[in-house]
Amino acid sequence: MIIIDGKKTAADLRLNLKTEVDNLKKKFNKVPGLTVILIGEYAPSKIYVRNKEKSAEEIGLKSEIVKYPKTVDEKTVLEKIYELNQDDTVSGILVQLPLPKHIDNKKVIDAINPRKDVDGFHPNNVGNLSSGYKSSIPCTPLGCYLLIKNIEPNLSGKKAVVLGRSNLNGKPMTQLLLKENCTVTITHSKTKNLKEECLKADILVVAVGIPKLVKGDWVKKGTIVIDVGINKTDKGIVGDVDFDEVSKSAKAITPVPGGVGPMTIACLLKNTIECFKRSLV
Ligand code: NAP
Repeated sequence: MIIIDGKKTAADLRLNLKTEVDNLKKKFNKVPGLTVILIGEYAPSKIYVRNKEKSAEEIGLKSEIVKYPKTVDEKTVLEKIYELNQDDTVSGILVQLPLPKHIDNKKVIDAINPRKDVDGFHPNNVGNLSSGYKSSIPCTPLGCYLLIKNIEPNLSGKKAVVLGRSNLNGKPMTQLLLKENCTVTITHSKTKNLKEECLKADILVVAVGIPKLVKGDWVKKGTIVIDVGINKTDKGIVGDVDFDEVSKSAKAITPVPGGVGPMTIACLLKNTIECFKRSLV
């Protein structure tokens, strides 16, 4: 059984990205820039944004955080996005979610130039991904995809089961697996016989938000199990998969923490560089 080391894979990816940034700098005399808009004082968002900034700077990207108080009006945020859309030094724009209730998520995401949409949430990118065209891909599913491909380069014909249908995780994950010619089942809170669905999986991706939902007898021998869940419990952070039980039958499994989590930020950096490269053509 392989414990998939997301920390190491992410570190290797960041190293490759750093080399790529160095080369781009030599060739074009400029570097990709990432601007993050942070609204309010929500502690986890502040930590995520700080980590994103630190990681971006470590690989040589130009990084900027635009901060607003939680009372900021929607118009101010939208005007800032329009300004960043026009700014040639900004390759990627990310608005840290969740937003305060008085700001419309959809309006904000729609305002971002799709070519600078490093989160892959803009409808153009969602549509392109589901049509099989080139697009920005949401960072967490992209990270899961890279981890799966490291273990199993040829996914064609595999049975994949995705738990959760969020726009952030489950839906884009499904598209990525479909593109690899997997036969994909996507499940959600109304799915009947979830255990039976899981038992069919060669590849199981779990993004639900329920601690240790997936038990040992839900997974057949030889399955690749990717646990996206991050749940705070009395015993610390746990995933959506019961790691101790499931690791007995899985072929490979991501731990929580140290699996998918580190890949998310590395993929954000990757997406920023991709946006920069697209802006050159
Ligand atoms: P979300 O938007 O709350 O979506 C959860 C999904 O799970 C929904 O589609 C929901 O179904 C489904 N679900 C809920 N209960 C279920 C059940 N009993 N059986 C089957 N499906 C069920 O969550 P999310 O944003 O995708 O996040 C999922 C987890 O990933 C969370 O723990 C989150 O913290 C974590 N996460 C991790 C990373 C990372 O970098 N590792 C990034 C983002 C999120 P319905 O659609 O029917 O409601």
